[in-house]
Amino acid sequence: MEKIKMTTPIVEMDGDEMTRILWQWIKDILIVPYVDLKTEYYDLGLVKRNETDDRITVESAEATKKYGVAVKCATITPNAARMPEYNLKEMWKSPNGTIRAILDGTVFRTPILVKGITPYIPTWTSPITIARHAYGDVYKNVEMRVEKGGKAELVLTDKDGKETRETIFDFEGGGIIQGLHNIDKSIEGFARSCFNFAIDTKQDLWFATKDTISKKYDHRFKDIFAEIFEKDYKEKFDELGIEYFYTLIDDAVARVIRSNGGYIWACKNYDGDVMSDMVSTAFGSLAMMTSVLVSPDGKYEYEAAHGTVQRHYYKYLKGEETSTNSVATIFAWSGALRKRGELDGLEGLVKYADALEKATIDTIESGIMTGDLYILSSLPEKKKVNSREFLEAIAEKLSAELS
Ligand code: NAP
Ligand code: MG
Repeated sequence: MEKIKMTTPIVEMDGDEMTRILWQWIKDILIVPYVDLKTEYYDLGLVKRNETDDRITVESAEATKKYGVAVKCATITPNAARMPEYNLKEMWKSPNGTIRAILDGTVFRTPILVKGITPYIPTWTSPITIARHAYGDVYKNVEMRVEKGGKAELVLTDKDGKETRETIFDFEGGGIIQGLHNIDKSIEGFARSCFNFAIDTKQDLWFATKDTISKKYDHRFKDIFAEIFEKDYKEKFDELGIEYFYTLIDDAVARVIRSNGGYIWACKNYDGDVMSDMVSTAFGSLAMMTSVLVSPDGKYEYEAAHGTVQRHYYKYLKGEETSTNSVATIFAWSGALRKRGELDGLEGLVKYADALEKATIDTIESGIMTGDLYILSSLPEKKKVNSREFLEAIAEKLSAELS
């Protein structure tokens, strides 16, 4: 069989530990036999980041700006324990944080659903994608403890030195205060990423804040979304038959629980932090959650939502058998290859990505799965396989699918 051609490279960001092992196997077993794979390779493994003073991470993000599509392996975010383990010059920052700051993107997380693994909310028959705004609010707050009373004020000093004041509270005794901010430009970027992703995936977009209580702060989010939608996206939404729907956050939570899924739920920073843990837990497994960073100007970086699965890696190093789930990493690859195919008009590549995802899901639904799914699955006949056997089982289905 002739290999599927690519015209533009994908930015490939390699990573660490068990996911780095899976990364190579996925390419060897599932991709390279079928696709004439073109990538621009960046090694974001901790060894290379340390060697390059983390320049490699910045370069990989710049390359994503240039080419438009990247796929990333999970990477270690160093903590104190990693300093001696990797003999680090510095406790390098999270690569995801660095890449997100350069692309100014929003992260969309979507669960992968398979028969036999029922969400805790049984009516959720389609995935719910959470988009979390990644700037400001309580994550960039300024806080004070009031020890023994005093008048707290909000003061804005403009460029000409003119002050605008607002009393927060006149404290008689002890208390607490907190200052939050956000930036129009960041909210606009968030809105555009969400509208673009809704169009891309042909799904409704929900957004919710507490604008009835927060009449200036949260209301600003609501207004920016509404303005941008009317001006730049409404026509396209109408054409596709999809909807932008705004409601109050409490109403949204109630509707989400009653829904069947199948939409994108855009959340402010804090809401997204909390709700993404609820939604991913309810869908069953972190190992079945994909993640894509979308920039306001339409650049894409695909990855798995989980980490480097350190515990399994140490077993692997000792030569012990592992049963690590590679589904989210496979879907990161299929997502990137499909997007590349769409952008370059390569129908064969898009079909390959569809076939890879179908073969992966069919494998699990036929009863062959890794240990994490084995304990969750309600299939009457199921078999637990090791990390490599799982990929080989998918390869068998994939080759049948493609011929
Ligand atoms: P983790 O790698 O997500 O793993 C936590 C536990 O979840 C594992 O020990 C395993 O449970 C289970 N698990 C996660 N993914 C799995 C998979 N694919 N297959 C089977 N089981 C899976 O989180 P962590 O151990 O807290 O973090 C390890 C490293 O990853 C850290 O250095 C952290 O900085 C990094 N990290 C990176 C990213 C990223 O690059 N996006 C995200 C999060 C964390 P059992 O051990 O019970 O089998
Ligand atoms: Mg959280």
